[in-house]
Amino acid sequence: MVRGLLGKIAARSLSVAGKWRQQQLRRLNIHEYQGAELMSKYGINVPKGVAVSSVDDIKKAIQDAFPHDKELVVKSQILAGGRGLGTFQNGLKGGVHIVKTEEVEELSGKMLGQILVTKQTGPQGKVVSKVYLCEKLSLVNEMYFAITLDRTTAGPIIIACRKGGTSIEDLAEKFPDMIVKVPIDVFKGITDADAAKVVDGLSLKAADRSEAIEQVKQLFKLFIESDCTLLEVNPIAETSDNRLVAADAKLNFDDNAAFRQKDIFALRDATQEDPREVAAAKADLNYIGLDGEIGCMVNGAGLAMATMDIIKLHGGTPANFLDVGGNASEGQVVEAFKILTADEKVKAILVNIFGGIMKCDVIASGIVNAAKEVSLQVPVVVRLEGTNVEQGKRILKESGMTLIAAEDLDDAAEKAVRASAR
Ligand code: GDP
Ligand code: MN
Repeated sequence: MVRGLLGKIAARSLSVAGKWRQQQLRRLNIHEYQGAELMSKYGINVPKGVAVSSVDDIKKAIQDAFPHDKELVVKSQILAGGRGLGTFQNGLKGGVHIVKTEEVEELSGKMLGQILVTKQTGPQGKVVSKVYLCEKLSLVNEMYFAITLDRTTAGPIIIACRKGGTSIEDLAEKFPDMIVKVPIDVFKGITDADAAKVVDGLSLKAADRSEAIEQVKQLFKLFIESDCTLLEVNPIAETSDNRLVAADAKLNFDDNAAFRQKDIFALRDATQEDPREVAAAKADLNYIGLDGEIGCMVNGAGLAMATMDIIKLHGGTPANFLDVGGNASEGQVVEAFKILTADEKVKAILVNIFGGIMKCDVIASGIVNAAKEVSLQVPVVVRLEGTNVEQGKRILKESGMTLIAAEDLDDAAEKAVRASAR
């Protein structure tokens, strides 16, 4: 649920707080099996499990970890939620299956290396490079638990719901009263009363209340000590032997904490991330991939947001947020341009530069050099203003590139939208 929401909030808040806020929203996402291992270190109950990346290793993994289990849960590992209700491109329904142990190998063969499409992956889906084999627990009560950061209370907030499992988004919409929110004072930390409120929001049937309170406190400790921005356990479940167990694990971490969370950040799986964002991060560009058709290259987060808004006003949609920064090098501009042109959805590019610290001639040289390296298939609309604008315009003109010149931002957006529709 949170990824979709975050995307929407990201675009909004950027216009207000600019680059600073944007960095706040960059995050590390780790796989369920990695999250479960972290939780286990904090004494949180998780199902016993083992992650496997090749069908050849399945037999041995089962022998070692589950010599006596008759059934196992096979869970596709991708960095997106909604796996349970997802569908593989090869037709297999569901990214999470409970099967007889002797069927695990065959099933894993249909999952490994295959593309799983869920509500959260987009239609292109994500490749499953690992399956997580877990002991099958009999879950008698599935609930929802999450900790995230709340702008209103400016601190962590715990969210609990007595119903959980798949489709929590629909549930939250239909029964908002079922959701219990407990903001935590980040200076005081979590109190027993806070944790008790959360546990009462879960509505346990038979699990021990004071043990559950301890589990909630440990989950919060993990959240704080690991610099999480999100810790979602859906479902947190009661088992038939009355234990409270974290049957799923979604953990996100604040990129700004990478310097002090080296072990956790070593878990990054770039193969699961938006390749455009991975390339942008390498070039140290402030970039967020979006779904529209107009690629944007802008300097300054505020101007980038304004550009996106004006594109929208003219009936287009931006393919990305990109702030090349105040003092981008020519090399960075080349990289930025390559990312935009490599994006198949991009039907036109809008370059909008207001040269303050950034110089228009640097941007112009970057564009010209990038155009030499990539074959430019889409129209490029350019609006340059400010420092060294005349030199910038001359460089573009002398390059012989076909560009669409724009007078001002409004004109630029209009031309980009028109060019993208052709
Ligand atoms: P998601 O769909 O990506 O959130 O994947 P989950 O890890 O939440 O798995 C989907 C569903 O599978 C859960 O909501 C549970 O209903 C079910 N499930 C997962 N693990 C177990 C288990 O150990 N036992 C049982 N009975 N069901 C499980
Ligand atoms: Mn889940």
